[in-house]
Amino acid sequence: MYILFSFYFFLTGTILGSFFHVVGVRLPQNAPFITSRSACPVCSTTLQARDLIPLASYTLAKGKCRHCQTHISLVYPAVELITGGLFLFSYCQFGWSVDVLEAVLLLSLAVIVTVSDVKYMIIPNRLLMFFAFAFVVLRLFFPLSPWYASLLGACTGFAIVLLIIVLSRGGMGGGDMKLLAVLGLFFGGPLTLLTFFLAVTAGTLISTFLLAAKVISGRQPFPFGPFIMAGAVISFYYGDAILAFYVQSFQ
Ligand SMILES: [Zn+2]
Repeated sequence: MYILFSFYFFLTGTILGSFFHVVGVRLPQNAPFITSRSACPVCSTTLQARDLIPLASYTLAKGKCRHCQTHISLVYPAVELITGGLFLFSYCQFGWSVDVLEAVLLLSLAVIVTVSDVKYMIIPNRLLMFFAFAFVVLRLFFPLSPWYASLLGACTGFAIVLLIIVLSRGGMGGGDMKLLAVLGLFFGGPLTLLTFFLAVTAGTLISTFLLAAKVISGRQPFPFGPFIMAGAVISFYYGDAILAFYVQSFQ
């Protein structure tokens, strides 16, 4: 059964990953993402069911459109594979539990934010409102302790990014502020702070590296949402262990 469910989680992850990619691309353009079918961006041929099987379609068609032979970006199968892998990892880590439901919610937000922020430098408000609602409902059924920790978390997330925006004059944006506030509902205060700390550390290291390698220039705006979500996912898996280690080393 364990193998079967592992496979099930991986497969669900690849299918949802494909869907989240579409949502991340279309939501900032206010394009419908449920009713309208996907089409090849070059020849506009509507994709058939056989073109929409995660990973398999891409592999069988050797990464090309079946009609016009245009190369399809590797980003598509990569997003599917990464989402599938993270869903599988979550199941292996938590089994069937509330934790795995929480992991799936958080990973869904992570994939959509990453696609949208990298592509457009936007974290759509409608996405944030949807997940704020989902997290409030989640915490009504499975509250943090004490119950108001979610509210404190949201205020913490909002305040700390606001502080950075004021101090750095544009190092981070309003979308980042709202995103961390929404994550605060999910996490409560301590893990929200850890998420922020991990995101800033990773963001600084990677942007310094990319600047040195001349991949980006100093004036180019830099999407910070993916770092916040990476910090959040790490905090979700390992946050309690990291905080426990931190407290222990300073006693
Ligand atoms: Zn085509």
